[in-house]
Amino acid sequence: MIWLDFSMFLVLLGLFFYVFASSSVTVLHRIYLLLHIIFMIWPLSQFISQTSSSALFRIFYLTVSYVGLSLLGVGWFVFIVFLTGQSYVIRKSRLFILSIPALLSVAAVVINPNGMFLRINDHLDPLKQLQHGPLYWIMIGQLVLYMAVSVTIMVYKLRGEESVRQRTLVKTAMNGMIMLLLFSLADLAINVFFIDYFTRYIPLVSAGMAVAAVYLVYAIGRNKVFDIIQTVQRDVMNTMSMGVIVLDENDIIIEVNKVIKPIIRLRIGDKFNSAVLASQFRGHSAKEFEAFFDAQRKRPLERLEFEFAVVFDKYRHVIVQSAPILNQKKTPVGRVLTFQDVTELRLLVEETNRQNEQLQDRNRDLLIMQDELFQANKKLEHMAITDGLTGCYNRRYLLQQLEQEVVTNIRYGIPFSVFLFDLDYFKAINDKYGHLVGDEVLCSTVDAVRGTLRLTDVLARYGGEEFTVYLPHTNREQADIIAERVMEAVELNKVQTGMNEHVLSVTISMGVISIEHFEPSDLADPKAFLRELLAQADAALYEAKFNGRNRMVKRKLA
Ligand code: GH3
Ligand code: MG
Ligand code: MG
Repeated sequence: MIWLDFSMFLVLLGLFFYVFASSSVTVLHRIYLLLHIIFMIWPLSQFISQTSSSALFRIFYLTVSYVGLSLLGVGWFVFIVFLTGQSYVIRKSRLFILSIPALLSVAAVVINPNGMFLRINDHLDPLKQLQHGPLYWIMIGQLVLYMAVSVTIMVYKLRGEESVRQRTLVKTAMNGMIMLLLFSLADLAINVFFIDYFTRYIPLVSAGMAVAAVYLVYAIGRNKVFDIIQTVQRDVMNTMSMGVIVLDENDIIIEVNKVIKPIIRLRIGDKFNSAVLASQFRGHSAKEFEAFFDAQRKRPLERLEFEFAVVFDKYRHVIVQSAPILNQKKTPVGRVLTFQDVTELRLLVEETNRQNEQLQDRNRDLLIMQDELFQANKKLEHMAITDGLTGCYNRRYLLQQLEQEVVTNIRYGIPFSVFLFDLDYFKAINDKYGHLVGDEVLCSTVDAVRGTLRLTDVLARYGGEEFTVYLPHTNREQADIIAERVMEAVELNKVQTGMNEHVLSVTISMGVISIEHFEPSDLADPKAFLRELLAQADAALYEAKFNGRNRMVKRKLA
């Protein structure tokens, strides 16, 4: 049953690892914790092994302690690799290969074939009861191997590294390791080689582990290796959709977030090479990249930006930005490059622009249609009030106009006149020259009459070859003068007949009505007044015809 307690311990330890592995702490945190637990296993199990008198249990605890020790080398190695920013070396597949020596060593400890790793000789003095076999020395060998590789990495890193912070970190790890190494060598010397000269066991490896751990924890605290803000920043960087590359003042890549990794191959710790990056793009984009980095080298303090289109898996629009990272003294200590995919946005803008253009086209068409409609309306309006043949106003328009004007004239006592004229013997012209010449005579006569009228006078075709002129602000005397002028112009007007240069002229008979005085009763029924007016004009015209034609008859409205 005693193993139940131990099993529970293992369950608890497993749970602890699980919680720690699944929480959002940095990889460096996790690795350091692993190293720390390896540190802890050794002194604890060494201690327990010495409290037991049973050879079986002693060998068990010693096995546990040596399993811990076997893992120390690889634990330290992984810690160093992460600390020096070369985590890319340890991908999951490689980690297994790299830990094979340690795992073999663990197997050797656990199996301990024929006591070839460790043997307890009960018959000897308690201090000398432990006898180490050849596998023990192989374990020491693998530890030394891992340590040697770790030291090589650190020395290499120290040589190339220019960032003060990184150097401090590596130096800290190196010092911790040297301390542990010195203690371990001393332990090996005292407790293995020269055990004969000592009367008691001195746990120097344990002391070395404790001292190294205290030193590391102190240095880590001082250098803020595990700064929580950094953790958060890294989390933020890795969850954002924008690609980020952080460079230090010497263009060494310090950080590359997850978005970038599958697109551009970059390694943390490498020098950032803009030419290599540019070469990953083809044609125009490559040139744009080179120009961008050129500009950036010339103006390191400025924030620069450019947008390029590229075909990766599909067509992409990317905005690249380069901004200096400034310290409190405003001197640049590095640079951050960001890559933002704005394809969706661009496509949306392009689509919107396209739709806008379409809308504008439609608007233009609509405006054109509106204009055409307006012109057509105007034409219709014109057609509605003009006579198609002669181009002067028609009877409908004249009557409408007169209806309005008469009211105003009566109300304000404004004198006005009306002519009604008819072409003499027009039927005969039609009969002799045909209707086309008749039409021509009508048009020509209208033109001649219009030439004698004023701009404000309204000439309208009353029907057939009968015409009306409304003369506003015109008293009798003025009307007489204009009427004479009209008669004369018509008589003088010559119309081509189309037959041997033969020309013809016509005369008109005219009734002239002038209204100078109004009765207040006229206002009561303006339409009746107008009817009476036109009837009088007709009567005057009839009188002129009756009296022999080519004359005018003037009348005052009663
Ligand atoms: P009077 O001196 O009495 O007016 O004689 P008249 O021949 O002019 O007689 P009337 O006024 O009765 O004749 C009008 C003629 O005008 C009849 C018709 O054929 C002709 N007429 C009417 N409208 C038009 C037209 O638009 N074009 C042509 N060519 N002839 C028209
Ligand atoms: Mg006539
Ligand atoms: Mg007539």
